Amino acid sequence: MVEYDSSLIEADRFPNRDAPLSGLAPQVGPDADRRMPDAGTVRLDATRPHASRRSDPEPDGTGLYVHVPFCRSKCRYCGFYSVPVAGRHTGRLVDCLLRELDQYDGIEFTTGYIGGGSPTALPAGQLIGLACQVAQRLVSGAEFTVECNPGQVEPGLLEGLRQAGVNRLSFGAQSFHPAELELLGRGHRAEDIRSSVDLARRVGYDNLGLDLIFALPGSSLTDWQYSVAAALDLGVQHISAYSLSFEPGTVFDAWRRSGRLSAVEEDLDRAMYDWTIERLGQAGLRQYEISNFARVGCECRHNLGYWANQPYVGIGPGAASSAGILPVSGLGVPNAGFCVGEPRGMGVPAMTADTDHGQGAQGRDGRAPSCSWAGRPCHGQGARVTNNPEIESYVIAVENGAPIPREVQPVNAADTLCETAVLNLRRRAGIDLATFARQTGHDALRTFAGPIQRYRDLGLIEVTPGAVRLTAPALPIADSILCDFAALE
Ligand code: SF4
Repeated sequence: MVEYDSSLIEADRFPNRDAPLSGLAPQVGPDADRRMPDAGTVRLDATRPHASRRSDPEPDGTGLYVHVPFCRSKCRYCGFYSVPVAGRHTGRLVDCLLRELDQYDGIEFTTGYIGGGSPTALPAGQLIGLACQVAQRLVSGAEFTVECNPGQVEPGLLEGLRQAGVNRLSFGAQSFHPAELELLGRGHRAEDIRSSVDLARRVGYDNLGLDLIFALPGSSLTDWQYSVAAALDLGVQHISAYSLSFEPGTVFDAWRRSGRLSAVEEDLDRAMYDWTIERLGQAGLRQYEISNFARVGCECRHNLGYWANQPYVGIGPGAASSAGILPVSGLGVPNAGFCVGEPRGMGVPAMTADTDHGQGAQGRDGRAPSCSWAGRPCHGQGARVTNNPEIESYVIAVENGAPIPREVQPVNAADTLCETAVLNLRRRAGIDLATFARQTGHDALRTFAGPIQRYRDLGLIEVTPGAVRLTAPALPIADSILCDFAALE
């Protein structure tokens, strides 16, 4: 890995340290961590690797997500947490991100992802400096993605990121129609998508992704086909295609309530989705998740980690971390190992064979063996920890060495089973039975015998000797099917 100009890094790691905090006055929007898919959100964002181009591998290790909560302007459909960057002391926030990252000293992350918000809303030097620090925490050959907005990249930025170790870029294209881009409030033109992808390729990136949105108000199947064709023309390795949802608190939601916009008919939404699967498959982009398509070996390893329910750490306002990954020192945050065991009698059939822990799902004392906060599977009780999205309180806490305001949501063993099943089923590969057993200590076929049988009878789930997965007809209605795996019967 080539070192980036260290004087630039140091200058940008702690810029604006003495800046007045007023520049960071919060504008809290709806909090939505799109890196944490759940059963109620079928089509989400996504993205892929550089070093090892294996097909749809079972990911391993701990992912790192860094949230940059700024955007140049707010898109009308956007329910993600972000605030306008104008007038913000971005360097001060970046400084805090790095300080929070320091709290996870000792973890080597297997994937890195800087998202938002819009990372490219940061000054180039700050984003490159952030990427340099993140890269130092990744294992050799790790996938390292940065989200980019079309038209917000220039050669110096992309070269700096590449030198820092970034090996994958994900562009929020959304559409190639001028009228649709205008409606969405994207702030870029179709030509910006083309020129940004072209620039990235010239700088040397060979792993590029585009996000697209279908079922836009007033759009036709032909409109959508035009955008997909334009995306394919660019020869990118990965496309995420997700259906528009009207998120509470967005301009689109208000416009729909007032009758200014209306959602497309369900049949059209379905037709667009079905056509997308077929067309992208013909073009060599294999569907590997409900909304994600990639050339073989270019699946987004970071998001595969989420869908495998692997451990992850989220840095920044609004970011979430998974069980047992809390920092062990500093910032006044207590060590929260979280693995406090799996209570007996919870009604979950345990595996009879030994698991990784050598004692089956339950330790001999009725408690799960202690899990490692460094990222090994946790069979016991845990928690999901979500930083408060409010920027000012985050910055004040970090700068004063105080605990970062966080919401801690307990995740017991039953929750872990259900979440793992729901997330796994988002993948076309579905639940790998051996991996599920190793990860949770339970047999998925027994644990979810009821919904598996019901949907198998309907032809919506198939069971093979090694896996359980949704069939093609199930994909458009995956939401409702996954709900039946979200709780134990
Ligand atoms: S650029 Fe992305 S995160 Fe920012 S407002 Fe638009 S959709 Fe939301």
